[in-house]
Amino acid sequence: MKRQTQAIRIQAERSQNREHAVPLYLTSSFTFEDAEQGRAIFAEEQSGNIYSRYMNPNVDEFVEKMCMFENAEDGLAFSTGMAAIFGAMAGVLKSGDHVVASSALFGSAIQILTKITSKWGITCTFVDGKDIQAWANAVQENTRFFFCESPSNPGLELIDLEALAKVKEGKNIILAVDNCFATPILQNPIDLGADLVIHSATKYIDGQGRVLGGVVCGKKEYIQEIRFFARHTGPSLSPFNAWVMSKSLELLELRMEKHSANAMALAEALENHPKLNAVKYPFLKSHPQYELAKKQMKFGGGILTLDLKGGYDKVVAFSKALNIVSVSPNLGDTRTILTHPASTTHSKISAEDKTAVGITEGLVRIAVGLEDIEDLKADFLNALASL
Ligand SMILES: *Cc1c(COP(=O)(O)O)cnc(C)c1O
Repeated sequence: MKRQTQAIRIQAERSQNREHAVPLYLTSSFTFEDAEQGRAIFAEEQSGNIYSRYMNPNVDEFVEKMCMFENAEDGLAFSTGMAAIFGAMAGVLKSGDHVVASSALFGSAIQILTKITSKWGITCTFVDGKDIQAWANAVQENTRFFFCESPSNPGLELIDLEALAKVKEGKNIILAVDNCFATPILQNPIDLGADLVIHSATKYIDGQGRVLGGVVCGKKEYIQEIRFFARHTGPSLSPFNAWVMSKSLELLELRMEKHSANAMALAEALENHPKLNAVKYPFLKSHPQYELAKKQMKFGGGILTLDLKGGYDKVVAFSKALNIVSVSPNLGDTRTILTHPASTTHSKISAEDKTAVGITEGLVRIAVGLEDIEDLKADFLNALASL
């Protein structure tokens, strides 16, 4: 069956009530017929639900759909995107291992790699992710993990994932890609050679700014190690959140097409505006990696950045002048959101590192929602005109 059919038809087994939509399994544990069945299920001689830290029908349905979308052998859900990123690393890495990561990463991912995994003797080298040779040069004997985002948050830098996968060929290195901005609708890193795909499901997967969640999909051997870590440390996804997000996946393709169409139209309407230094969007010809974007991604995605002339003061004035657009740190919502990364999501990283990945004081990230594009264009143009 095609992907969109499966997104709708993959469903937890119906109960004796013959419900059409999947019910919520708000239960912490499951019952056994008798002590002997409990023993057999714990011993994995029989399959069956045990306890919702390990498995739950709503969570399992959500993971099955995500694996389907990402063409992955196996997967695991987490309470947040950050729990998924940390869980993936904690599951497969050990003391003495080395990580190579793109410097254009989500702020908290940089914090993990510089201040948390380092406590357990895991070292990390950051490279300019666009530069494939830099990854190859950074590889050491103990390098075990490559980590990147493409497109990156918020700089919208792309990494040629197929070329990056070639760098680790024949080596004992796991390539993990944070696919949050692209979603499986725009690109499937596993098809390009990645071993693990990680999502903050809080963003486009939920799609309406309601619940937090995360997921890791990929090669079974690695997912098993991550599952061991997660089962015993407990960063599980709640069944309610899984239920919400599994319903959301039914519309992921429709939503991503519309987010992308709106973002493209807005980027075109604002490009070359006299109040802006730059408009960045992967499917604008002016994007430095336009060719790669067209090759690697099906659509341009829902995120663009604007660099306002006049820096932070103008950002504040602009955020006040916008009428429809929300000012918030989230993205991937139906509602268009403006974020100022330098003072929020990326405020904890050094000025030098911000400059290196293009996070200027005047840069705003726009997560274009699903409102009518004419209303959005008018809101942005009016706000810019008022500056
Ligand atoms: C938001 C985000 C995360 C973190 O996800 P949470 O669900 O907020 O924990 C990780 N990576 C990227 C690219 C993000 O945008």
